[in-house]
Amino acid sequence: DDQERQEVWTNIKDALFNDHIDQFRAEFLELHPYDQARIFEDLDEEIRMQIYTYLSPEEVADVMEHIDYDEIEPFFTEMTPAFAAQVFAEMSTDDAVDILNELDKDKVASFLTIMDDDAADEIKDLLHYEEKTAGSIMTTEFVVVKAGMTIKEAMVHLRTEAPDAETIYYTYVINEDKRLVGVISLRDLIISEEEWLISDVMNERVVSVSVGEDQEEVARMVRDYDFLALPVVDFQDHLLGIITVDDIMDVMEEEASDDYSKLAAVSDVDSPDENAFA
Ligand code: ATP
Ligand code: MG
Repeated sequence: DDQERQEVWTNIKDALFNDHIDQFRAEFLELHPYDQARIFEDLDEEIRMQIYTYLSPEEVADVMEHIDYDEIEPFFTEMTPAFAAQVFAEMSTDDAVDILNELDKDKVASFLTIMDDDAADEIKDLLHYEEKTAGSIMTTEFVVVKAGMTIKEAMVHLRTEAPDAETIYYTYVINEDKRLVGVISLRDLIISEEEWLISDVMNERVVSVSVGEDQEEVARMVRDYDFLALPVVDFQDHLLGIITVDDIMDVMEEEASDDYSKLAAVSDVDSPDENAFA
């Protein structure tokens, strides 16, 4: 509630003012990143620069993902370029790309130069996808296993991948050519015997979207099939990324407001064309 909020706020400011790093971290990291982002927006640049030295790039990445992307440019200008590059490397690739698209092209290039090669390559690939396509909203942190693995081996693998995966609810199955051949849910993994093979349990009829698919169509499929995520493939069925339901909610909001602007533009016309809504 409000009083609790006020108390947290006071403690955080107090810790910052007195340079108590541990106290600041304890209070701040207790909050949800959404609330951390609201605090960030309220602070002066100087104080935020102090905070960047108290938090890890990964912790700052969580905060940045919850800032309004239209207003995000100053945050990445006030950070040192080296720190900003690390923050991008720690983010989900889909969020990193959305934010980089809001920034000055020179700045983006400089961040990508500083970033380590693997992280930079993944982000560069994603930056090339056309706006409003599946490729432009997908993320590359998915979990894959081979059909020949046992359930036990798959679970061990899933455990190592889990900390950085966008979702662990679906594990995708690929063959030697890295083509998508199956999917298995966490529920299916948990209820299977350890010595069974993935190929025995996986669902081979995988619903996927192609990387160039319109985001509105992707949203419709997520809604119709009720999946928490959909795999994105190229024309040869290579798995390129996944789109999770939380990103679809952003798409639906964007498309709804696009449609609304179109309607508003139409109603401005003095004598509306009868076919305007057809
Ligand atoms: P259920 O709804 O059957 O009780 P669940 O709630 O555990 O299962 P859901 O998310 O509803 O899981 O997924 C249902 C099934 O769909 C799972 O068996 C999963 O393997 C499968 N599945 C997930 N993604 C896909 C996909 N892209 N294409 C086809 N099947 C999929
Ligand atoms: Mg279900």
